[in-house]
Amino acid sequence: IKKSSGCCNKLKPYLVFVNPKSGAGKAKNIYFERVCPIFAEANISDTLVFTQNPNFAREYIKSVKCLDEFAGILVISGDGLIHEVINGLLERPDWKTAIKMPFGHIPGGSANALSCCVGHLTKEVFKNLSLESFAAQSAFNITKAIPTPIDLVAFELCDKKIVHSFLSFEWAIIADVDLESEKYRYLGGLRFTLGALKRIMSLRIYRGRLSFLPTDEYINYKPKSPSIKLTRNNNLEEINHSNIFIETNNELRTNFKYLPELDKPVPNDWLIVEDNFVLFLVMYLPLISNDFLAAPEATFNDGNMHLIFIKEGITKSQLLKLLTDTENGNYLNSDLVEYVKIKAFRLEPLGLVTGQNQVSNTNGGIMMVDGERVPTGPIQAEIMPSMGNILAN
Ligand code: ADP
Ligand code: MG
Repeated sequence: IKKSSGCCNKLKPYLVFVNPKSGAGKAKNIYFERVCPIFAEANISDTLVFTQNPNFAREYIKSVKCLDEFAGILVISGDGLIHEVINGLLERPDWKTAIKMPFGHIPGGSANALSCCVGHLTKEVFKNLSLESFAAQSAFNITKAIPTPIDLVAFELCDKKIVHSFLSFEWAIIADVDLESEKYRYLGGLRFTLGALKRIMSLRIYRGRLSFLPTDEYINYKPKSPSIKLTRNNNLEEINHSNIFIETNNELRTNFKYLPELDKPVPNDWLIVEDNFVLFLVMYLPLISNDFLAAPEATFNDGNMHLIFIKEGITKSQLLKLLTDTENGNYLNSDLVEYVKIKAFRLEPLGLVTGQNQVSNTNGGIMMVDGERVPTGPIQAEIMPSMGNILAN
C-alpha cells in the first residue's frame, strides 16, 4: 500500500456526518458513547453534522465555503453516506483539489463494507465484533491514520449523469438481493443470506452485452467457459439507446481516459461478450460485506477494477454453494466463475431471459453503484487511479 506524504494538521477539526437513520439506528449513540471519548483522549476536535435526509451530506459538502478548514471528513453511517461524500466533493467547482480531502469511515450502518476493507487491508481484527466495538476500533484507528491514495471509479449513467464510486457495481443476482433484502436490515449480515436463498430459488437470468478493456496483465484473457464468445469492436448491430439523453455540461468528463461517448461504439482494443448472466459484479475494494471477500487481489490503489461474472447454466445448488462460501475468496477458483482485471467497461442490459431464446426487454434488472440504486440502462465506467484519499493506517 502506497502512502501519500501525510501532512494531516491535527489542529484542524474533522467534519463528522452522523446518519441517525442508518442501519439499526445506532450511529448517534456510537458517536457520543464510543467516538467522543476516543477523540477527546487524542485531542481531536470535530464539527458535528446530523444528516436530516438523503443527500443532506452531499449538499452540505457542496455548500462549505472553505474545505481547507477541515482535516478530513468522517462518516458514521453505512456505505451510502460515503458515496454521498465523494460525490459531494466532486460536484464542487474546486473538485480537483476537493476530492483530495481525506475521508474516513466509522461503521454505523447495516452494510459497512468500507470499514471492513480498511480492517482487512490494514490487517486489523474486525470480525466477530459488535458494531459498537468495531466502531470504537475504527475511531481509534482514525486517530493514527494517514491519508492513503484510493482508486475511485467514474460512471456514466444512462441519463448521462456522472457518478463516482469507491466500492462496487452490482447487476443481476447481487443487485437483486441487495435491493430486495433492504427490508430485512434489522437482521444485519443475515439479510444477504436470506435474500440470496430466495433469489436462488427463483433464479433470474439477464441478457446483456458487456464490453471491457482488460489490463495489460489480462491482455490475453480467455474465459474459463468455452461457450463464452469474445468479439472485438462493433460489427454487432448498434443498440438504439434512448434519445432522452440530457446533455450535462459535465467537466468531470475531461478526466476520462478510456470511455467513448455512451452512444458510440467501443474502441478496437476492448472485448465484447453478449450472453445470459446470472451474476455480475465489479469490485475495486476486496470486500463487499464482512463475510464476502469478493476481490481478494484488490487494494486501495491497485489501479484496476475486478470484473466477476457467472453466465447461465450454473445449477441452483452450485450457486448456493458458491454464495454461501465467500469468506475466503475461493469462489473465484470455480470453473463457473469468470474473473478478469479491467480498466473500463460498458454494460448494456438487454432484458430478462424468460425462456428458450426469449427475452423480455422491459426488465433490464436492477443496477447498484456502492449499494445505491442507479437508473437501469446502458452504463459505462472507468478506473480513476488514486483519485481520492482514505484515512487508513
Ligand atoms: P445503511 O447501511 O443503513 O444503508 P447508509 O449510510 O448506506 O446506511 O445510508 C442509507 C441511505 O440513507 C443513503 O442513501 C443516505 O443517503 C440516506 N440518508 C442519509 N441521512 C439520512 C437521514 N437522516 N434520513 C434518511 N435517510 C438518510
Ligand atoms: Mg482498488
